[in-house]
Amino acid sequence: MQAQDLLRPRPEGLYCPPGDFYIDPVRPVDRALITHGHADHARSGHAHVLATRETLDIMAIRYGKDFAGQRQTARLGETLDVNGVKVTYHPAGHVLGSAQISVEHNGLKIVASGDYKRRRDPTCLPFEPVACDIFITEATFALPVFVHPPVEEEVERLLHSLKQFPERTHIIGAYALGKAQRVIAHIRAAGYTAPIYLHGALQKLCDYYQREGVDLGELRAATMENAKDKLPGQIVVAPPSALADRWSRRFADPLDCFASGWMRIRQRAKQRGVELPLIVSDHADWNELCETIHATGAREVWVTHGREEALVRWCELQGIAARPLHLVGYEDEAE
Ligand SMILES: [Zn+2]
Ligand SMILES: [Zn+2]
Repeated sequence: MQAQDLLRPRPEGLYCPPGDFYIDPVRPVDRALITHGHADHARSGHAHVLATRETLDIMAIRYGKDFAGQRQTARLGETLDVNGVKVTYHPAGHVLGSAQISVEHNGLKIVASGDYKRRRDPTCLPFEPVACDIFITEATFALPVFVHPPVEEEVERLLHSLKQFPERTHIIGAYALGKAQRVIAHIRAAGYTAPIYLHGALQKLCDYYQREGVDLGELRAATMENAKDKLPGQIVVAPPSALADRWSRRFADPLDCFASGWMRIRQRAKQRGVELPLIVSDHADWNELCETIHATGAREVWVTHGREEALVRWCELQGIAARPLHLVGYEDEAE
């Protein structure tokens, strides 16, 4: 069987003709298989959704209970039959509930990895390399310049800054799903036990992570009442959009921090007025992308969103066939 007969790009997303389903479709479809809860991958309005229990929960939190007509839970490592196609979910190490989706039919196996990373993340299960014929990878940080430092070092710089500037509120911009909880978990792992203050937009997902057993320590709402003393020397976590916003100006001489893989690029930090860039990414860096491709043993690689050309070229130099998929609708900014 030809690979493109098993999975092929369509405007709605990656489509499997024999199984009649889409993976992470960007438009409403009849049957959707979802890798994880980020808004560009998990959309509402599909007639039938198959995802891990956590991803289904996260979709319900974000879109409301009626986010799909029907939902079905995928258990990690358990093979399901979808219209005669074997489908198996494996952990992707990206955010809580995130999974790679393996699709197997007539002796051909393709793994669509969604977004993934290889670093330790106390808030989700680690990525599992899956042997396959064709590996579909994202390419968010697919340039050799993107080598993420250890998260512990970044957290150390934050805690050092807190000591150095006890009169200033340290506001960390972090995306609501995954990044915020991971940054908090790493701050806790570094021994920081004081309450951490949350922007309202992060509350529901942080509550959900805690209900799922991820220990984030004492979290408090960063409300007007709490901000009366303007929280000097405290940590506040907020969505990145709130950094530049009037919202953050209520705190004591706010010191803007932003937790993102993009903070590797100094200019980006400067443009956003970030005083303390924290290079913390939920995506694989260049070395991890290359290692992972080798680990799957795939003879062919398809590259989705990000810097496709560099990774395709690297694969070719390794003797691995590769091509960009040019899927539209995925945001690599929201990392
Ligand atoms: Zn994602
Ligand atoms: Zn993505």
